Amino acid sequence: MKKVEDYVRSIPDFPEEGVIFRDITTVIQDAEGFQLAVNEMKALLDGVDFDIIAGAESRGFIFGSPLAYAMEKGFVLIRKKGKLPCETVSVEYDLEYGSAEIEIHKDSIQPGQKVVIVDDLMATGGTIEASIKLIESLGGVVVKVIFLMELAGLKGRKRLSGYDVASVITYE
Ligand code: IMP
Repeated sequence: MKKVEDYVRSIPDFPEEGVIFRDITTVIQDAEGFQLAVNEMKALLDGVDFDIIAGAESRGFIFGSPLAYAMEKGFVLIRKKGKLPCETVSVEYDLEYGSAEIEIHKDSIQPGQKVVIVDDLMATGGTIEASIKLIESLGGVVVKVIFLMELAGLKGRKRLSGYDVASVITYE
């Protein structure tokens, strides 16, 4: 039987020379691959007490919303600046390739709510560090952060030290 990592396509030299891009399109376009990925991410939440899932645009939506649906929780969007229609808080951060600003609706997390953050991949951890800042600024408590994939060499875990971080696949 195939494992979820068998569905990930690795593309050398994208978006720049020397980088191996881990492409999840080949995971989710395959019915079995998508099921495996979501089920294995769901297993990372076994025994975790939480209220709501948050995911960062755009691949965090792909995995976060089916997880929230399957676990009968709500799902909160963290989006690039200028996309959310109601009152927001925002934060600027450095990316692996450039910089960005993300935001969240002010009323999407209630103080004291236990939040799980979901994304496809952790590289430097910068996106999730910024997402944590947004959630905490609203009084949310980040109880777990889960990824389909993690690039261990970029030391994202160190950046997110103090938080419970887990991923299905680790690339050294
Ligand atoms: P970080 O903020 O440095 O951890 O970068 C993580 C973000 O960049 C995630 O939202 C990923 O979707 C994206 N990213 C960085 N490298 C890759 C890759 O190799 N494959 C897919 N996404 C990547």
